Amino acid sequence: MSNAIVWFRRDLRLADNPALQAALDAGHVPVPVYIHAPEEEAPWAPGAASRAWLHRSLQALDADLRARGSRLVVRRGDSLAELEKLISETRAEALHWNRLYEPASIARDTRIKQGLKSRGLEVQSHNAALLVEPWTVQTGQGGPYRVFTPFWKNARQVLESVRAAPPPERLPDPPATLAGLDLKDLALSPPAHEPAWDAGFWKHWTPGESGALELLDVFLDGALHGYRRQRDMPGRVGTSRLSPHLHFGEISPRTLVAALQAGDWPAAIRPDLDHYLSELGWREFSHHLIFHFPDTPTDNLNPKFGDFPWADPDPALLQAWQQGRTGVPMVDAGMRELWATGWMHNRVRMVVASFLTKNLRMHWRHGADWFWDTLVDADLANNTQGWQWTAGTGADAAPYFRIFSPVSQTQRFDAEGAYLRRWLPELAKLPDAALAAPWEQPGLMREKAPDYPRQPVVDLRASREAALAAYASVRADG
Ligand code: FAD
Repeated sequence: MSNAIVWFRRDLRLADNPALQAALDAGHVPVPVYIHAPEEEAPWAPGAASRAWLHRSLQALDADLRARGSRLVVRRGDSLAELEKLISETRAEALHWNRLYEPASIARDTRIKQGLKSRGLEVQSHNAALLVEPWTVQTGQGGPYRVFTPFWKNARQVLESVRAAPPPERLPDPPATLAGLDLKDLALSPPAHEPAWDAGFWKHWTPGESGALELLDVFLDGALHGYRRQRDMPGRVGTSRLSPHLHFGEISPRTLVAALQAGDWPAAIRPDLDHYLSELGWREFSHHLIFHFPDTPTDNLNPKFGDFPWADPDPALLQAWQQGRTGVPMVDAGMRELWATGWMHNRVRMVVASFLTKNLRMHWRHGADWFWDTLVDADLANNTQGWQWTAGTGADAAPYFRIFSPVSQTQRFDAEGAYLRRWLPELAKLPDAALAAPWEQPGLMREKAPDYPRQPVVDLRASREAALAAYASVRADG
């Protein structure tokens, strides 16, 4: 049998993997390969938390391949050069991969496809990551969408026809002589001489396809029921927590949709299902945006913000935000959840992002950079969209006057303080009513929470007014 290279990137699974399936369908022996080339993704090479996840995800993929008779060949270096070596070592007749949508990946993949095709190799790319690829839907005028609702109204039509392929039961063994690196050689996890800052992550997460499928089952049996209401409560497990698994392609959105559609659900949870599908729709929309507006990881999508009066970044304030020491409990709890687990609840992401960009008026890029390094689900499309939306600079952005109040957000979504007490033990003894704005009760603070900052690093009301004035000036200019 002839060989075909299957180049794994962010599709670290065996089920519903069109590149792997195409190699099998053509009668080839798939040669599963991972090439470590972070510089090709610059300046968006995976951050530290993502690298720690990737290490475990690749381990899991190799174990899953071995359980079926194959294995993962790991290489490091220029992707094209490594692929050429692999093609010659295996005499491969074809190369398959699943597509990525970030600007640097598109440029690299296009170059590789042209280079290898011109030398007569069969090179095929496939869609594994999205329900609708960015060029397949367009507005009535023939351009890209900038507003979510019409995007999703159009895009969601594909839901009717979504199918997800099962994993292959057995895989033929790639050539025994083919050498690869040990995963440890990629130095993705924190090195032994550094503190194991990721040690706490793995109580919360199991990277890899099996971990993703387990979490999906937990979600279908649990948080899906009531998702629409509970998804905003950071103190509960009210969401699927599948974002890092989706980012690394350990589960496909088609598998999620198929699982949701296959269930014999009571009519009462139809709104929950629809809402969950629309969140997957936001993921699709983010990819649509990054494909059509590839400068947005650094530049405002809305050009009116070119001269926006951002504050000069104050390193002490930025550090207080990063470390969860701002004296604003909902912000601090979110930033500490992020540090401890590599993840933060969506509602709290909006609160901490609004605080940084509106109350502290720092450019959203400072926040996006920190998230990039610390999130296990750091995803250029979703992170860019989330920051620009919250800052008001993006597509279909939050209106300029929406400044999340960390106080009222706590009162609405964590009234009993489950979330704040979990991440801010120094506030645990305060009564529920004092948790959202503890600085208003200095006597109680002295007695019951002496280790927490007495005052927020910024006056919430005054900074809100200043932000509104700054944003209004952008509107007036427009
Ligand atoms: P669920 O509620 O279970 O949703 C299911 C899936 O839908 C998620 O796993 C995710 O893939 C997708 N999704 C949900 N909400 C959004 C959204 N608003 N935008 C895009 N996709 C969404 N998400 C990331 O995956 N990576 C990021 O780097 C990222 N950065 C963000 C930064 C900011 C400032 C904000 C406000 C949001 C960001 N998000 C990001 C979106 C969102 O917060 C996470 O996707 C969500 O919290 C993941 O939790 P979950 O899997 O339990 O979500």
